[in-house]
Amino acid sequence: MAEPQHSAVTVLGLGAMGGALANGLLKRGLPVTVWNRSPDKAEALVEQGATFIPDLSAAIGASPVTIMCLSDHAACMSVLNGKAIAAAAGRTLIQLSTITSAESRELASRMAAASVRYLDGQILAYPDDILEARANLVCSGPPEVFNEHAATLRAMAGNVYHVGASHGAAPSFAKAHDSFSLGCYLSLLQGAAMCASSGVDLRAWSDYNLRYLSSGNLGREMAILADQTITRSYDEGLGATMNVWRGAAIKIVEECRTAGANVAHLDSLLALMDKSIAAGAGEKEIGVLFEQMTAK
Ligand code: NAP
Repeated sequence: MAEPQHSAVTVLGLGAMGGALANGLLKRGLPVTVWNRSPDKAEALVEQGATFIPDLSAAIGASPVTIMCLSDHAACMSVLNGKAIAAAAGRTLIQLSTITSAESRELASRMAAASVRYLDGQILAYPDDILEARANLVCSGPPEVFNEHAATLRAMAGNVYHVGASHGAAPSFAKAHDSFSLGCYLSLLQGAAMCASSGVDLRAWSDYNLRYLSSGNLGREMAILADQTITRSYDEGLGATMNVWRGAAIKIVEECRTAGANVAHLDSLLALMDKSIAAGAGEKEIGVLFEQMTAK
């Protein structure tokens, strides 16, 4: 089935990210209407072809789809007043500000009550990635609404994924992504701190990690772990048991303490491993930690 074509778009919020979204749409040749609380931020976009409408309801009424990118949930709730929602009735609102899943559900029910078609989206990228159409954008909400606007979202952002029909799925997914990124960043920095404290060349540490990433080995290990969480079976895969990994973790902590490097996050990891082993998982693969993390 042919994918629906791009549509005219109104962008609410022209900060660093909202401005990049509007810019990206203009670069891809779409008709763009813009609105911002502080009108001066629209000037550069108008020079590039956008139409600035200072009245919020009129701006929403100018396009079949409105993309909103404000600071936070409170800003979205204050902007979406009765008049603005009435203007959006029968149209689509795509909410891209960073919010939680509970906040998204609150917005979705407010929009449903006013017959506004609503999609969540969370941007997992920086403004420059939008401008180059290489950003990752995760969306959730009714699949038929997503499919209708997927071409426009792809033109604007690059890589667009629908991660669930229920409102709130995209914010949950995005938090999981951020947690993954932060965990990776923390681990790289922790390793660098250990190397620095014991006089290991930081360039050697960096080069090694870049090779580890590009070799595909880490990707293969992640795929095995991810499969363990899906199947919830932890008897084989990577080839090392929880007991073996706990021994390695103790040695990492020892090494850090000797080098005077911080061990706070490793203490939490050890506590999680101990709980898992106490629950009888010592001879399972390390993916079994997932059971402790999801235990009520
Ligand atoms: P920003 O540059 O600080 O812009 C904030 C925007 O929100 C401005 O348009 C501002 O309007 C508007 N705003 C704030 N409070 C408002 C209110 N009460 N009523 C009306 N408008 C209000 O922030 P940003 O970087 O564009 O980020 C916007 C969203 O994108 C955030 O949720 C952020 O987490 C998300 N995001 C940003 C990035 C990034 O790298 N920048 C990456 C991923 C996701 P004024 O101009 O009038 O102040």
